[in-house]
Amino acid sequence: MCGIVGYVGKKKAIPILLNSLKALEYRGYDSAGIAYIKDHDIHIIKKQGKIKNLEQSLSINEDNHIGIGHTRWATHGIPNEVNAHPHKVGMITLVHNGIIENYESLRQDLTQDSYTFKSETDTEVVAALIDQMYQKNHDMLQTLNEVTKKLEGTYAFGILCDEHPDTIYAIRKDSPLIIGVQDEDYFIASDVPAILNYTKEYYLLEQGEIAILNDTCTFYVEGKEIKKKLKNFEGDSSSVSKSGYEHFMMKEMMEEPDVLRKTVHHMKEETFTFKDYQSIDIVACGSAYHTGLVGKYLIEQYADIPVNVEVASEYRYKKFFPKKNHLVIVISQSGETADTLAALKRAKEYSLDTLGIVNVKESSIAREADQVIYTMAGPEIAVATTKAYLAQVTTLSLLALKTAYEKDLMTKEEYEEILHSFDVGAVKVGKLLNKDYSEQAKQIYEKTDLFYLGRGLDYALAMEGSLKLKEISYLHSEAYASGELKHGTISLVEDGTPVITVMIDDHIRSKSISNNKEVRARGGYVIAISNTDLPSDSYDDLILVPHINDFVNPMMALIPMQMISYYVAKARGCDIDKPKNLAKSVTVE
Ligand code: GLU
Repeated sequence: MCGIVGYVGKKKAIPILLNSLKALEYRGYDSAGIAYIKDHDIHIIKKQGKIKNLEQSLSINEDNHIGIGHTRWATHGIPNEVNAHPHKVGMITLVHNGIIENYESLRQDLTQDSYTFKSETDTEVVAALIDQMYQKNHDMLQTLNEVTKKLEGTYAFGILCDEHPDTIYAIRKDSPLIIGVQDEDYFIASDVPAILNYTKEYYLLEQGEIAILNDTCTFYVEGKEIKKKLKNFEGDSSSVSKSGYEHFMMKEMMEEPDVLRKTVHHMKEETFTFKDYQSIDIVACGSAYHTGLVGKYLIEQYADIPVNVEVASEYRYKKFFPKKNHLVIVISQSGETADTLAALKRAKEYSLDTLGIVNVKESSIAREADQVIYTMAGPEIAVATTKAYLAQVTTLSLLALKTAYEKDLMTKEEYEEILHSFDVGAVKVGKLLNKDYSEQAKQIYEKTDLFYLGRGLDYALAMEGSLKLKEISYLHSEAYASGELKHGTISLVEDGTPVITVMIDDHIRSKSISNNKEVRARGGYVIAISNTDLPSDSYDDLILVPHINDFVNPMMALIPMQMISYYVAKARGCDIDKPKNLAKSVTVE
């Protein structure tokens, strides 16, 4: 969600700012802008829409060596040029990721002090506030220290001050920010991919720290200088390139067999299990919430522990009934999802044990949770998750398996056989990725509505299939528990309505077959994703996937669902990697 970049050093700033912004495009945005300083004058250029609009208005080769840039995902005020960042008030120019919750009262106070505002944003108010404070003391360090005490909400800021034209200032609370280092060149960015063309070395800015970057880089907390440890990004820039694929999403799906193998390898070393817990909450948003639903099925069925799965934006405000031996699991690809992070903090307030399952190393959730298990997906750039979802499901599946074994609910032989079957699963995932799904896409892409059906584990998977389709193709889709359809929604099934039914759960297959027939009797076009052959009158199209066991079968069903979504979105001419209105790392509530 939104991208912040900044550069100060010996190179030309504009090409670096543009490159870095492009590398953050995956986070989702609606407008873009940069500010740079040349001959002590500040220049601000902002444009609505894509970065290429901004690029067309810039002279790339202009000789300047300091600037900040931003891709905005509007929260306060429509996505237009005026509301786009950077915002300048008085001597202060800044870019912001996050939401300032008390901006209205701040704005009123500042208006009384004769400040006026051009935009509708919460961000411009902060520029005015910093200017007001700075005018009194002409000391940026002191000002930034004081300003953080007045702000409520979440933020990462990159800041320029007219009186210090060689310096970038950075502060953050709850929104991510890193400081890249290449010799005596310094960068700020919301995420590491932004700087990988220049350097792999970076500092992670912690809550409440202030970074001051010019011909050197210094950090302060509460006005005192601190030393920080330089980190090294383990991947390389190819991990954030398309490697010849038309879309990141396709590249990332093609990586799924490898991600599955890496996750199994990683989890073999993992010592954490659920065996000492009597109940579990899984809390997450979007696809990660669907991961939780798959996890619930496996943990309850095999590890015999009751699991409650909740959407983080609800969980964070609900009444808590703390129990003994209770674990709260939070799941997030980015590790920065604001609602999930808040839910984690709430659980910690009640002294509950917490486990974070996250993909991005040292992200906020990884650092806040008592225990962390990293998913082995590597950087995921396409906004709609594929390989990170697979890695999350595999991680929970392996935790359920290990717990079942440690609780003597299965024999050593059974445990080892199932563990080995994940490798078989990785090969089968590779084969499923190479199948042709264009026929299904052809049946669907011109329709306006679609239903996904499933029972039990199949319903959990159907929910993810449905979300994936609507996220990237903008085709309306709803997931329904198969047995619930006839209690209302079946009235929407018409001649040719596509209905995808997930049928990998052995226990309830006969029920799902009957539901398929009910849909077909009303003209629905049934595409069944099943791991056994079905009676020919229960489907129009059958996608057969391998049957391995309950722990690995979910990975077999999710591949056709992801691939169908991809090809439908492609046939509809959608921007597959950057769907409208969506953001990769949802850092606002
Ligand atoms: N709240 C700010 C705005 O609406 C920043 C949004 C963002 O994170 O991009 O301008």
